Amino acid sequence: MGKIEDVPVINGEGFQLSVLDKVIATARANSVWPLPFATSCCGIEYMATMGSNYDVARFGMERMSFSPRQADLLIVAGTISKKLAPILKQVYEQMAEPKWVLSVGACASSGGIFDTYSVLQGIDRVIPVDVYVPGCPPRPEQIIDGIMNIHKLVKTESLRRRYTDEYKHLMESYNIDSNE
Ligand code: SF4
Repeated sequence: MGKIEDVPVINGEGFQLSVLDKVIATARANSVWPLPFATSCCGIEYMATMGSNYDVARFGMERMSFSPRQADLLIVAGTISKKLAPILKQVYEQMAEPKWVLSVGACASSGGIFDTYSVLQGIDRVIPVDVYVPGCPPRPEQIIDGIMNIHKLVKTESLRRRYTDEYKHLMESYNIDSNE
């Protein structure tokens, strides 16, 4: 019998894990549960996106989750005041990993036209954002494009990404404990 040192060492994820990665990623991408954090007009556009004309049910996403504990995708649609920012961050922190964030419209992404003392100049000041949707307001087609970009991210994300140092540093930069 050969010694243990004779066994070849295989670096990387290997065949089984990379196939498992893809199966899990495909299942995740087709069963995203969104949490709509809608505060103003962009939220109405998201409601239109959910309606029968556009229909998010085709993605298996018609089940809205108003509990952060049962959501994978935080959809922020509307103006976020500085007073509201800690609440948004708390909602994000209460979501379980893996989780993604879609920033819908100019206000959520950059404060939009409200360059004032009271409005947060972009939600990425308090939480990390995966996909930005431009527009004031964006059309439902644009929101669907943003959702499809989230699906692409979910489908290609490695199961190990959330355990990497890069991800931990990203969370630390937002003062969020990724191990919670
Ligand atoms: S981006 Fe425009 S439409 Fe959307 S919430 Fe702001 S002001 Fe309203």
